[in-house]
Amino acid sequence: MSTNDGKHTWGKNDPLIRKLLTLEEILWTNPHYSRNNQPMKRSSITKEDIKEADDRLRRFAPYIEKVFPETRVAGGLIESELTSIPKMKDLLEKIYHVSIDGRLLLKRDDQLPISGSIKARGGIYEVLKHAESLAIRHGLLKTEDNYAILNSEKFKTFFSKYSIAVGSTGNLGLSIGIMSAQIGFSVKVHMSHDAKQWKKDLLREKGAEVVEYKTDYSLAVEEGRKEAEKDPTCYFIDDENSKDLFLGYATSALRLKKQLEDSNVAIDANHPLFVYLPCGVGGGPGGVAFGLKTLYQEHVHCFFAEPTHSPCMLLGLSTGLHDKISVQDIGLDNKTDADGLAVGRPSGFVGKLIEPFISGCYTARDTTLYQLLSTLIQTEGIYLEPSALAGMFGPIQLLTNGSSYLKTNDLMNKIEKGTHIVWATGGSMVPEEIMKEYDKKGRALLEKK
Ligand SMILES: *Cc1c(COP(=O)(O)O)cnc(C)c1O
Repeated sequence: MSTNDGKHTWGKNDPLIRKLLTLEEILWTNPHYSRNNQPMKRSSITKEDIKEADDRLRRFAPYIEKVFPETRVAGGLIESELTSIPKMKDLLEKIYHVSIDGRLLLKRDDQLPISGSIKARGGIYEVLKHAESLAIRHGLLKTEDNYAILNSEKFKTFFSKYSIAVGSTGNLGLSIGIMSAQIGFSVKVHMSHDAKQWKKDLLREKGAEVVEYKTDYSLAVEEGRKEAEKDPTCYFIDDENSKDLFLGYATSALRLKKQLEDSNVAIDANHPLFVYLPCGVGGGPGGVAFGLKTLYQEHVHCFFAEPTHSPCMLLGLSTGLHDKISVQDIGLDNKTDADGLAVGRPSGFVGKLIEPFISGCYTARDTTLYQLLSTLIQTEGIYLEPSALAGMFGPIQLLTNGSSYLKTNDLMNKIEKGTHIVWATGGSMVPEEIMKEYDKKGRALLEKK
């Protein structure tokens, strides 16, 4: 079987497709990767767009601080810590027989306030942006106002005339559901079969309506989109195509830059930065990577991490077909315990945008994710959900299989002065008894290793 869009074809005998079908863990580096910054300059999203999104989040900070008191320490900004994980680094080196040259840091988005995952960046941003534009359009709000006024019956009544809809594997639904219900919107979350029961329960408890599907993510999104189109007061948050979600994620780069500066970590021609981002449909990792590229250009190297059963972005980028191909098309089942990454078809919008500057993608088995999960608990006492461990496999993949990328980009001698950031994308909302089961699985696997 082959697909032809005029430019690209693929067949089941292509070496890369065959490799993906073996379900082995692989590293794919991007042949279109460009060290110069020109492709960024041509893209439809700019540095100014990111700045504007950050300004908007700052306008909302007084409101967020009021309604989510856990954000008070950061003045109403939804931000996470950047921490060093030296014990984890030592044990990883022993388990995987590899020397991880350079510093290893963990970006703790698992602890982001409000919804405990990277989705608290994009999802909440888009809900707030929509609320702001409605309120401004109806003459109820000016950008100079103190947005704490939004926390009132008057605004809640106003917003209750509008609704929000979204399709999700779980975490996006959580962030959008919680934020929408808080501000006063009625909200409907269309959830795929792999969404965890506790995520559905929590959302219902927060006042969101949850619609369950027996199908995977792409179809849940499709159904949500169709239903929302029928209702003019309903705003559909489109995880596959949303520029606003993307910008919400991208603002993290500005915050990270400040954190790196505050901890005296240099990023420049002699001090490269490597960032490992778990990828589902691509918006979260794409937004973060785009933001970082605008700040650090060729000094930052971004890799996306996917389950061996759901390597949708790797497939979309490597074939050049983006959202015109799914992992099911090549014969993979898109079944993984990493629910946040259980996506069979990537975002075409994101794939095309990141194509010139993404360094590569790699895959990880669910068993690897569980092992890393328990290893991180044992060494650092940090509890992440399975999806969030995909990033942790990045330094191992790059240092085991990435020597040609490192050589081509003149990084062999620089890497020991460089920094690796593993993006921990979720975990703090996982109920304790479920986390115990994850850990038990991981420990059993480690014993066999
Ligand atoms: C959603 C999610 C991701 C990936 O984000 P996408 O925008 O879907 O690519 C990674 N990790 C976790 C825990 C997530 O919930």
